[in-house]
Amino acid sequence: MSYKKSRYNVIAKNDKGSRLFNSRTGAIIELDKFDPLFPSFAEAWKQQKFELSDHIWFSALRDIGFIVPEDLNEISDYMAAFDGMQKTADHMNLIVMPTEQCNFRCVYCYESFLKPQMNKKMQEGLKKYISTSMERVRAFSIEWFGGEPLLGKEVIRNISTHAVALSREHNVSFGSAITTNGYLLDPGTFDEAVTEWNLKQFQITVDGPREFHDKRRVLESGGPTFDKIISHLEYIAKSDYPDLLYVVRMNVDRENLRTVPEFARIVKEIVGDDKRARFFARPVWGKSECDLLTNFESRSLRKQMVEICEETGLHLFDTDLFLHPGGGMCYAADSHSLVVGPDGALYKCTSAFELPENFVGKLTEDGTVELKLDNYSLWVKPGTEKYSQCRQCAILPVCNSGHCPKIDIERTKRNEDMSRPVCPPFKEDIKTFVATAAIEEEYANVE
Ligand code: SF4
Ligand code: SF4
Repeated sequence: MSYKKSRYNVIAKNDKGSRLFNSRTGAIIELDKFDPLFPSFAEAWKQQKFELSDHIWFSALRDIGFIVPEDLNEISDYMAAFDGMQKTADHMNLIVMPTEQCNFRCVYCYESFLKPQMNKKMQEGLKKYISTSMERVRAFSIEWFGGEPLLGKEVIRNISTHAVALSREHNVSFGSAITTNGYLLDPGTFDEAVTEWNLKQFQITVDGPREFHDKRRVLESGGPTFDKIISHLEYIAKSDYPDLLYVVRMNVDRENLRTVPEFARIVKEIVGDDKRARFFARPVWGKSECDLLTNFESRSLRKQMVEICEETGLHLFDTDLFLHPGGGMCYAADSHSLVVGPDGALYKCTSAFELPENFVGKLTEDGTVELKLDNYSLWVKPGTEKYSQCRQCAILPVCNSGHCPKIDIERTKRNEDMSRPVCPPFKEDIKTFVATAAIEEEYANVE
């Protein structure tokens, strides 16, 4: 059988040699330029078409997707697999807002804090919906979001213990994640979350060193929050639960941009060499009261983050996301993902509650989901149907042409030119991520 290179290969060079990443399989390998076999490999790799016997490394490269049969139409093959995944109801992801209210008043926050905690009847409705879902899926996940979700700790406890028990009964894989400001994540809550609620991922936002953070992420009553959040992070870093990930996120505008390296050192001091820790930064967007980064500054920030993480040894969260099939696709584009508001209103996107198209239905107190299909379908329509550029793209399996469906909904409403997709910012940086990512042991040596 003859073979060809996969169209989903991304090649990057670093000091040691070449790195290959395959966006379909997620495999990443390093080919050492000082290896005696490297020159013959480089020669053989130049061919458009080859046999596995042409080089000793080729069989291993075939096994992890870098080389594919010559007659394989990878685009149709991939699109059929993606279509199947969107239609197969074997997993479900709920982003649940126990409350819209928050104990912080961050300077850039877009939330209106209107809806109070989910009431008992709606909690029972949600539990019934989870019960019926668990009978048909193989994997179920919940992401707790808000407002500040830990203000609704009773809701999280009630729903999570139900979901954990059901997942055991039905042998369904279940895990959950939380996006929290960290203020209420005290040691007791953290221990309970890991051991009782099956919370496996914590994302906590800290906006730089104390003097900057405390100006930006203040309590509703106006007080500082840095010291308490940091003490909670220290507790998490010292914990010995092996099976979790905690992510420190920094929201950046011009005010705190220059503090990113200093804050990275603070984070490094807290987490040490903990393999469960991740760090990343994102530009603040949307609120004009902040001095927002320009596109150029945002790009520089992304590059700076890669350098800072290399220097400090911190693990950049972006490489987990964007070197992973489906990792660059927003949950709003996933046909098995819904956002559940405290009153049972259903949405697709957590950043556009004011957008009428984002209201996609409601969860009733008897556990039924009533979908508003005209709105719902706007979010999950595959971009590959609209954009020929996506069908040709080397990182299609990472982005799935769905990194932000909201952008396309808004562009359509504004009658903008829709002949090209708006690509995600990470596309520009994918080679940098490939060149610098930590490599998993199993792929470290293709021989
Ligand atoms: S939106 Fe851009 S990055 Fe994403 S699949 Fe399409 S062309 Fe590729
Ligand atoms: S659709 Fe866009 S704005 Fe909404 S959550 Fe996804 S990436 Fe964010």
